[in-house]
Amino acid sequence: MDRQNTMTRRSFLASTSCLGAALWAARLFPVSATAGEVASAGRVSPQPLADKGFASVRKVGDGVYATISDPSKGLETLSNGGFIVGTEAALLIEGFRSPAGASFQFDALRQVSKVPVRAALDTHYHFDHTMGNAFYGVQGIAIWAHEKTAPLMVKIYGPGQGLDRAGMKAGIEKRIKDATSAAEREHAKGDLNALKLMSESVDSAVVSLPNRPMEPSKLPVTVELGGIQAVIESYPGHTPGDLIVRVPQRNIVFTGDLLFSGMYPATFDANLSGWRKTLETFSGFDKETLFVPGHGPLCGPEGIATLRSVFGDLADQASRMYKAGIPVEEAQQRYTVPERFKGFPIFAWSFCIGPAIAKFYEEFMTGGT
Ligand SMILES: [Zn+2]
Repeated sequence: MDRQNTMTRRSFLASTSCLGAALWAARLFPVSATAGEVASAGRVSPQPLADKGFASVRKVGDGVYATISDPSKGLETLSNGGFIVGTEAALLIEGFRSPAGASFQFDALRQVSKVPVRAALDTHYHFDHTMGNAFYGVQGIAIWAHEKTAPLMVKIYGPGQGLDRAGMKAGIEKRIKDATSAAEREHAKGDLNALKLMSESVDSAVVSLPNRPMEPSKLPVTVELGGIQAVIESYPGHTPGDLIVRVPQRNIVFTGDLLFSGMYPATFDANLSGWRKTLETFSGFDKETLFVPGHGPLCGPEGIATLRSVFGDLADQASRMYKAGIPVEEAQQRYTVPERFKGFPIFAWSFCIGPAIAKFYEEFMTGGT
């Protein structure tokens, strides 16, 4: 009985803390994550194969399914993903924020096919793409990722090491207290929420590492699934190790977080010049390409163009402030979201805007463009 009460109380606490995060996420992601435009263009099944609120799975081509998160309804998945299924095997994409998220996607696959799963692929190490890996481990499913993914997970999320989260929290709390403007205080409050979400996600997970490291020099790799192939490639940009999955026969690309669709990108461990070159490459893909972004609605090449102009605006504003002699710490706070990107969610100011401005300053100082 006592144990029962403890359990109930624990799950109550877990759900209330998640509810707080979900309410915050609802404000961050006010727009439904499924793209009405693309759906009406006939590429995306209007009826989801599975829908649990926090994410839905939709058919986007023969044997290709996209998992699209809606963080306003829950944070089990948080990132997008999907799967590719042939007559012989299937490939799952992303480990999501929690085992419940990975399990949801696996169940959706099992609704359409019983073929063996060749692997689950993490596009990069971030917690919202990997903390559900343990579910795949239990199923005996191999986890593939860029060779830098496992070492980064150990470094950042490993038990007893990783980030000094207590120190970071104290730093942000001090910024909230000492803020000199309402905007600065709001930025810091958002940062605190993001840090809490990351900490809760990592602390409640059994961190499970990918067991097949993929070396970029040995890519692309073509995975034969029976009548359909998945091509794994690596491009620089979002983190030190990013993979994408292309389905050339269907003109579909799973980009991981190299594409944030209709939102500001997370740039804290990004290589911005590499990322912008990658986006230029993506914009040269076939005009009919359907992109499954790491976050935000499905899109065509216009989604790539939009993210390129977001980077362009960040670079332009950074350049103006740099030339005006504004110190970098001030410039990071002073960036102003232009009218055309007003509705774009920002996961957290210090995950997205601040580092981008600082990195552009660094490029200017070292004589880059
Ligand atoms: Zn990411």
